[in-house]
Amino acid sequence: MKIAFFVTKPYDRPSFDRYGEAQGITFKYFETKLNEDTVDLAQGYDGVCVFVNDTVNAPVIDRLSRLGVRFVALRCAGFNNVDMKHAYGKIHVLRVPAYSPYAVAEHTMALLLTSIRRIHKAYIRTKDFNFSLSGMTGFDLHGKTVGVIGVGRIGRVFIDICKGFGMKVLAYDRRVSSPAEEGGIRYVTLNQLFSESDIISLHCPLTEETYHMIDEKALDQCKDGVVILNTSRGALVDAEALLSAIKSRKVGAACLDVYEEESDLFFEDNSGHILEDDTLARLISMPNVIVTSHQAFLTEEALENIAETTVQNIVSLTKTGQCPNELCYCRGGAQDCKSEKCF
Ligand code: NAD
Repeated sequence: MKIAFFVTKPYDRPSFDRYGEAQGITFKYFETKLNEDTVDLAQGYDGVCVFVNDTVNAPVIDRLSRLGVRFVALRCAGFNNVDMKHAYGKIHVLRVPAYSPYAVAEHTMALLLTSIRRIHKAYIRTKDFNFSLSGMTGFDLHGKTVGVIGVGRIGRVFIDICKGFGMKVLAYDRRVSSPAEEGGIRYVTLNQLFSESDIISLHCPLTEETYHMIDEKALDQCKDGVVILNTSRGALVDAEALLSAIKSRKVGAACLDVYEEESDLFFEDNSGHILEDDTLARLISMPNVIVTSHQAFLTEEALENIAETTVQNIVSLTKTGQCPNELCYCRGGAQDCKSEKCF
């Protein structure tokens, strides 16, 4: 079986080669992203393997289907880049629902500690033998309130980490009607979470409902000096509103592993280019903003699990016609498919 693998990075290949070879799957590695201009590269392949910033919209799905490509194997959990409604009945969509919630949750805490203890500044200062402590004052996490939005696999691990630091945790998840206490977690309304949290961390998926959930109105409700953490999806945060709130000193710090308009920038070396995105450039220039380029998932354990599950998904679908990690629209929304046969 032959799979066209898009947006390949050097760290992808060893694990995919190993798991693929064991199952008789050959990956053809393309550096380019999958989109309307590159979709014809998939001609002659059984499936495509894509990541978070590939474009799997209606024209791409139609073309893949016409080329006889049977499935899109996402090597990630999020699927906001796939037009699930359009894919229904045309092409199978598989994903890796969980590979290492620890990778993302631990990166979130790493960003938070780096920011509030000024580690990013200290690293640069001491490299230059500047041992001054001016401007380095941070604050204790112990006793602070963290508001976690989205209490799934990653949110839960992040909550455990925060509890280890002696923080108070408030949570909001659309699954749980609030106020409620569940599994030692205190669920509150979104408004309460905004107004009572010192730190807000986003761990819900990007959907129509969650698009720009951190906007001007939400930020207005927050405490002065609130710290915003986003390791989920960029468009959960209205970047312009965040920038304004940083300028007005409403937001004390922001740690972003994802950015609304990241798809043409992240994962690539743009250091020799003029950055066209003024909002991102301004955010990065702020002393209290830390940006990492969608790297929260990137641990050895996660890469192993991603390759293993992606290959298992492909084997399961091609051998049995079914896959427990198939996403589909058969129940009125994109979700892991539980039906016997969708199409
Ligand atoms: P999950 O499905 O286990 O949990 C998501 C939770 O969000 C669920 O409990 C769900 O009920 C909740 N939710 C859904 N809609 C909501 C809403 N409108 N308001 C509040 N809560 C809502 O997913 P997960 O594995 O914990 O991953 C969470 C997100 O992290 C993914 O959707 C993905 O976007 C992101 N992610 C980022 C990286 C990275 O490298 N930065 C890696 C993996 C995942």
